[in-house]
Amino acid sequence: METRPSYTFEIFPPKYNQSKASTYAAIDGLAALNPDLISVTYGAGGSSRDNTIEISSAIQNKYKIQGVAHLTCVDSSRENILKILDELKANNIKNILALRGDLKDPNDLSKCDFHYAAELIKFINQERPDDFKILAAGYPDKHPEAASLEQDLKNLKAKCDLGVSEIITQLFFDNDEFFKWLDKVRALGINQPVVAGIMPVTSASQLERMASMCGAVIPERVKRFVEAYKNNSWALKDAGVTYASEQILDLLARGVDGIHLYTMNQVDITRRIDENIRSALYCKRFK
Ligand code: FAD
Repeated sequence: METRPSYTFEIFPPKYNQSKASTYAAIDGLAALNPDLISVTYGAGGSSRDNTIEISSAIQNKYKIQGVAHLTCVDSSRENILKILDELKANNIKNILALRGDLKDPNDLSKCDFHYAAELIKFINQERPDDFKILAAGYPDKHPEAASLEQDLKNLKAKCDLGVSEIITQLFFDNDEFFKWLDKVRALGINQPVVAGIMPVTSASQLERMASMCGAVIPERVKRFVEAYKNNSWALKDAGVTYASEQILDLLARGVDGIHLYTMNQVDITRRIDENIRSALYCKRFK
């Protein structure tokens, strides 16, 4: 079958008190790069949850690009999730990235209606069957709370068996480790497409924050260029664009199912990476 890897972007919506104009300006720029879909985070980094639906709806209905609304469950009741599902449907949004969300107190899940993403996936499929395509998250460097990679992979398999159409990975920086992880994913019989999450490094503080939050392993090569250019933001951005572009070109050459760029709403950086990878991305391959 003739195919090409999928090419998708992630953005965050405005925070409560921010104007939406800069988000729409970012979408204007990103839409021009022709992604297969744009996903919109939910509550991540303090972004407004209400705006996730509005922005996903605009992507879907105004920009005519597939919109994906992220949805976390750990701090929501069943009623609240049902209300959101109905709003998503009313806005013609057909794709949900179903997530647990980060825990305020990892030792206290007792009061929650939902404890894991798998429960949200099951709930959506039970309550609103056929309304949504469900995507889920995977962790090449292991989810930070998982006792072992093997346990994390078993949990991923359980989640996928409940009806997930594709997996988007957490950001990672080492392709060899990603492919070792992917071999284990496939060995467990997880057959869904696995889309590689890539985040260009554009500042030392952003890298530190993201890595400590999501547990991504930072290779020595990345640490070296971040250290070398920590006082020169232009040079650091150049190095970040180069690293991400090389990483993507290597993933594409090795047959990855797709690339998901964590754009952080940065159109210029995304455009530069896009220019570097475009011809490789559009080289069709045969499966
Ligand atoms: P789960 O799949 O539930 O896994 C969480 C942990 O629980 C893992 O360690 C897993 O191994 C373990 N586990 C799963 N099932 C069981 C079980 N039955 N028993 C014991 N342990 C189990 N966060 C936001 O707040 N907003 C966003 O928009 C957002 N977008 C994201 C997008 C992507 C692509 C990714 C990768 C992450 C995103 N996150 C977002 C972060 C995400 O919410 C956190 O990583 C969260 O801690 C885990 O979510 P999950 O859906 O992977 O959880």
